[in-house]
Amino acid sequence: MATTDGTRTEYRTCHLCEATCGLELHLDGRAITLVRGDRDDVFSHGFLCPKGTALKQLEADPDRIRRPLLRDGDSFREVSWDEAFEAIDAGLTPIREQYGPDGLAVYLGNPGAHNLAGLVYSRVLLQAARTKNIYSASTIDQMPKQVSAGLMFGGALTIPVPDVDRTDYLLMLGANPYASNGSLMTAPDMPGRLQALRARGGKLVVVDPRRTKTAEEADEHLPIRPATDALFLFALVQVLFAEDLVDLGDVAAYVDGVEAVGRLAAPFTPEAVGPACGIDSETIRRIARELATAPTAAVYGRIGTCVQEFGTLASWLVDVLNVCTGNLDRPGGAMFTKAATATASGATGKGRGVTFGRRTSRVRGLPEYFGELPVVCLAEEIETPGDGQIRALVTLAGNPAMSGPNSDRVQKALPTLDFMVSVDIYLNETTRHANVILPPEPELARGHYDLALYNLAIRNVANYSPPLVELEPGDVPEWRSVLRLAGVIGGQGAHVDVDAFDDLVVSGLVGKAVARPGSNVEGRDTDELMKALATRRGPERILDLMLRTGPYGDGFGADPDGLSLAKLEAHPHGIDFGPLQPRIPEVLRTATGMIELAPEPCTGDVARLQAALERPPASEGGALVLVGRRDLRSNNSWMHNLPVLVKGKPRCTIHVHPDDAARLGLGDGVDVRVTSPAGQIVLPAEVTDAVMPGVVSIPHGWGHDVEGTKMATATKNAGANFNILAGSDSFDPLSGNAAFSGIRVEVAAV
Ligand code: SF4
Repeated sequence: MATTDGTRTEYRTCHLCEATCGLELHLDGRAITLVRGDRDDVFSHGFLCPKGTALKQLEADPDRIRRPLLRDGDSFREVSWDEAFEAIDAGLTPIREQYGPDGLAVYLGNPGAHNLAGLVYSRVLLQAARTKNIYSASTIDQMPKQVSAGLMFGGALTIPVPDVDRTDYLLMLGANPYASNGSLMTAPDMPGRLQALRARGGKLVVVDPRRTKTAEEADEHLPIRPATDALFLFALVQVLFAEDLVDLGDVAAYVDGVEAVGRLAAPFTPEAVGPACGIDSETIRRIARELATAPTAAVYGRIGTCVQEFGTLASWLVDVLNVCTGNLDRPGGAMFTKAATATASGATGKGRGVTFGRRTSRVRGLPEYFGELPVVCLAEEIETPGDGQIRALVTLAGNPAMSGPNSDRVQKALPTLDFMVSVDIYLNETTRHANVILPPEPELARGHYDLALYNLAIRNVANYSPPLVELEPGDVPEWRSVLRLAGVIGGQGAHVDVDAFDDLVVSGLVGKAVARPGSNVEGRDTDELMKALATRRGPERILDLMLRTGPYGDGFGADPDGLSLAKLEAHPHGIDFGPLQPRIPEVLRTATGMIELAPEPCTGDVARLQAALERPPASEGGALVLVGRRDLRSNNSWMHNLPVLVKGKPRCTIHVHPDDAARLGLGDGVDVRVTSPAGQIVLPAEVTDAVMPGVVSIPHGWGHDVEGTKMATATKNAGANFNILAGSDSFDPLSGNAAFSGIRVEVAAV
């Protein structure tokens, strides 16, 4: 649509975080002149945060890589795509031949979860690689939730989300949606939704070692000692059983293991756990009673409950509470999304469940989870000689040298690789070690659909954003370069017929859809469906297939009013399929067809939690305990090169409580050295009572002062890297997730 100032207006879903806000973009040719919230977006209704407006600077960032880069000694030079792939073939193929598939590792970064092409074609790349050395950001911050949900409900993403818009009571742990807008919970404008909850008479209780912005806006903030969430949650469960408050509600017929949970909870009385958590027993009892008696309630735990040594137990207990208070799968409780691309199949209510440990890491023998090895293993798998040693690495939009645990060690390991390829927009702390870097096309030149995030949305919604500008000469869509990379890895040589490869991929997916019992295209002719999809290529063709065979799909003519990509294109502000609906038993995929309330891996870990009760508190002897921090204008490690997001006073500071600051002789702005068993960093202190006494907090994703990157703004605003303080041996044994929270540190003025 043209505007009076000669620009045109377009609509697009923001891809920068999990909230999926609708943006109104004013474009002058290829350039963004203005970013506003799209008031007609069916989900976000005009909301946007400062990161959304930064899309303008991100697209125009002069440091972005625009053409393939090939290492030339200590520097890089731009090369043609053919030269880049010839170098990749010459580098990777001999390694694959000499050392086998496991000699190559693949690391998938967090931005890939917001990227249609990346999500669709990284799967093809992983299949081509056939390596067990697959790593991702999932074992940095979310695997405990995936594991607990997988064990209880049967699928890696069968994760209930709080029905924020209808609940009467929300108990939130380890989350700060005023800064993050939700995670493993897709919900634009969380501040507005939480305000609405309170305005309709609901109650918001925030449990966090820090008085975050969300905690400030809540009805009640319960400061909790870091990494004791599982103890607190178990005490709530204990009260429910002890006071006969357990009520399974409508899902009662589908729950196994209630008695076992009651038995396991018995020792975790409020009196037993209160001193460890720092929350008194009467408060714990009151919260349990409030949860049980609220008309509707939901418990939501996020990153703080995952990045700790009991991450899976905490994540499990969140949903144990949702079940035991009768709030699972009912409006206002914790519910399951029905995404437009979900596999629609008649075989519902039962499945194979989840199995972990089909492969283990070579050096430490840690199990895989959902096909991935824990990132805590990555450095040692590169460093340690022997059969199966990682010799080459492919990173897709990932920065493990910055965001992985013990990142100093990862940074030292990367240059010892024989070959490395990165797909990335920046020459950053990780990609500076690559031999070849392949840039994606500009964001506005690609289509966008939040394939992963709509699975966890608090309403059933779908929104597709078409490309808004043409590719420029020399641009190659990411889907083509990832598919070509998959072809090289799979032995097709440097000159892969990408279109033929894509046809093969899509016909395989169509074949699966027509073979799936209960699918809306079951038994149909594959060629007929391929012809119907023929006007599209790449990720759009696959998305169209997924939408048309999904739960709202048109089934390629079976339901003329059903969903297709064409229909989504006709709705630039998205389609709202309504609030979440009860989905049990249909959504379950456990082998029993039941909700497994007491899955063995969790119950088997309870003794370890009980032993932790006997330990002296981490803060004993004056030690300080570290937690992370998220900032509204930051998103992991990759948005610090945008001046609009880093301007103002430095935000990479260590928060210290005034009592601890007085004891240690620290003041605002004083540089302090923070030392853990794994490493040390130096950064300025910020004295604030927003952290508990005995707790210090540092944001993650900083530490850009390394040689060889090209991120001028980030380098000027370097900060210090929190992750250096996390050791490779600090993780949750049930999920392999790194434990960043609860690390004991010493803090002293430099
Ligand atoms: S909240 Fe997330 S999706 Fe919304 S504008 Fe900000 S970065 Fe974009």
